[in-house]
Amino acid sequence: MALDDLVTDGVRADSVPNDLEAFWMPFTSNRSFKKRPRLVSRAKDMHYYTPEGRPILDGCAGLWCVNPGHNREPIVEAIRAGAAEMDFGPTFQYGHPSAFRLATKIADLAPGDLDHVFFCNSGSEAVDTALKIALAYQQTIGQGTRTRLIGRERGYHGVGFGGISVGGMVANRRTFGTMLAGVDHLRTTYDRENQAFSKGEPEYGAHFADELERIVGLHDASTIAAVIVEPMGGSTGVLPAPKGYLKRLREICDKYGILLIFDEVITGYGRLGYAFAAERYGVIPDMICFAKGITAGAVPMGGVIARKPIHDAFMKGPEHMVELFHGYTYSAHPLACAAGLATLDLYAKENTFTHALALEPFFADAVMSLKDKPGVLDIRTVGITGAVDLAPRAGSPGLRGYEALEKAFHEEGFMMRIAGDTLVITPPLIISKDQVGELVEKLGRVIEKTA
Ligand code: PMP
Repeated sequence: MALDDLVTDGVRADSVPNDLEAFWMPFTSNRSFKKRPRLVSRAKDMHYYTPEGRPILDGCAGLWCVNPGHNREPIVEAIRAGAAEMDFGPTFQYGHPSAFRLATKIADLAPGDLDHVFFCNSGSEAVDTALKIALAYQQTIGQGTRTRLIGRERGYHGVGFGGISVGGMVANRRTFGTMLAGVDHLRTTYDRENQAFSKGEPEYGAHFADELERIVGLHDASTIAAVIVEPMGGSTGVLPAPKGYLKRLREICDKYGILLIFDEVITGYGRLGYAFAAERYGVIPDMICFAKGITAGAVPMGGVIARKPIHDAFMKGPEHMVELFHGYTYSAHPLACAAGLATLDLYAKENTFTHALALEPFFADAVMSLKDKPGVLDIRTVGITGAVDLAPRAGSPGLRGYEALEKAFHEEGFMMRIAGDTLVITPPLIISKDQVGELVEKLGRVIEKTA
């Protein structure tokens, strides 16, 4: 491909790498991107910058992870200091202090008796870890027939085989073979007819939790280990749990001895105005999966927080035995721990979660103001998250205007997620009211331009 072909909006050929071929980009139309690359090379607070220095307002917090804003000095400094001290710290049969310190802080933040933390490196690993703990736990307490896992339609739980099996996105499943055996799915909680244009938790839809009773009726509770759901479906287009839905799910799980796992990879660390959505919804799951916001995206990290009885059940065998045959070379990597500790300190110091909660009504009104733009079918908001469902855009049959939208975003100087027909707004939580206004104004122009 000639370099001249690569010149694109705001990116001169001399700042485009000579060879774009070798990097096989994830979840990207590689051929289309490489004809029209969009590059950013620097970030600070609410903005990315192109190699030429043009600011791009970050409407998606990187990938839902940069909750306190980009390149915050205390986090950068902690990573720098951590790297100078110890590059790699083993956590199999050895330990390093920052892992214990961070686990304690996370346990303190988590509600109820969610008080033990298993570290890994991503959301996908967190999900696979939680599913494995669930299965192993059921064996440990003499319930070994409980091997079935329940996910949900339109759920996203990362890309490991566990995650795509319990996940409910056809594109992520259909080309990868048979999936895990013994998985069933609840139906989605989204019903546009009865929930359109709702702010926060939709009033309608608690009864969707009763689906679990149907699944129990079909397979028997004695075969079911765990249910995993996102408290707010994120990557599939911002689908907040209807009022009362999660409570009902909890009650049914309790009735049948089924573990309840919340995947809080997106909702954890402030996105909904609390450390965890579990707190917002007043429902304590048996495990929480987290990632992203724990390190503000600066170093990869994920993990699972388990309730005390789950952890304790593993601690009953002979003392010299390994209790759980699971772990990653980079579990609790010292740089991730340093970044995590600094990020949690920053959240506490700046009251990031409370700020998000206080901003929610303003943010919701601003996003809802797009209601009458052409082709808007629905808008949903919860916490500092908004979604705008669009009718298929003209001019890009089959692509739903995806490319046209991305181009228009880039020209307007902002970044936003597109999930199918849905535009997803998830800025860093430090966004000001003025910046919310700017983001929504830019978005309104793009919706009009591409209609
Ligand atoms: N679970 C949820 C709810 C997510 O949103 C994501 C990522 N968007 C994942 C899991 C997977 O995380 P990762 O990409 O870090 O593997």
